[in-house]
Amino acid sequence: MDSFRPVSNPAGKILIVEDEADINSLLARILKAEGYETLQAYSGTEALLLMERETPALILLDLMLPGLSGEALLDRLRTELHSRIPVLILSARVSLEDKVALLRTGADDYITKPFEPEEVAARVQAALRRGAPPAGEQSALSCRNLLLFPDSRTVTVRGRELTLTVHEYELLYLLLQNPGKVYSRESLYELVWQGGYYGENNTVNVHMSNLRRKIREADPEEEYIQTVYGIGFRLAAPAPAQTL
Ligand code: CA
Repeated sequence: MDSFRPVSNPAGKILIVEDEADINSLLARILKAEGYETLQAYSGTEALLLMERETPALILLDLMLPGLSGEALLDRLRTELHSRIPVLILSARVSLEDKVALLRTGADDYITKPFEPEEVAARVQAALRRGAPPAGEQSALSCRNLLLFPDSRTVTVRGRELTLTVHEYELLYLLLQNPGKVYSRESLYELVWQGGYYGENNTVNVHMSNLRRKIREADPEEEYIQTVYGIGFRLAAPAPAQTL
């Protein structure tokens, strides 16, 4: 355990989805100046692909995008991916009707173009704060050398941050929330992928094996996820999750 030490809560990365390169890089500069790490996508499809590899803490989302629109991306994020990542809409055309519709789809706030850098920084900070537990009560779920921070959706193992997809993160989050519980593949599929018939689907196994590999790379000596033969998966150590 010598290399294990508690880490401060990482802020997580901010995903910018904007097709206009100038605006995209301007936003990245504004956020980097505030100390945030950024990810940049130039279309809705690129943003979805990116989220196959990483789980951002917040998304800045333009509405007018080539191909998959901002509205469609937000809808897929909330309904198909079942993600609660805060989303700030960037748009020049936000009427009252649009705002109401977007709120219903699950947007968290709006930034109207053209914007001032100070406004972007303030709204991002406010959205991240709203998503976080009250000051002094930031909690992490833990299992030996692994820490999961629900507010920033980050996972560290031995102090090293893992790069997880949305689905890998959600799988791990479920297991950590109920350390003693054995989850069947069917129930994990239903909970993480939100419905759809499981059937002969190999999806859960594939994502679980990728998740295990990433954890093992960071901590080869401990087992975190146990296969219960004929049933499914559970956290390997049935120790209760702790609140830090
Ligand atoms: Ca645009």
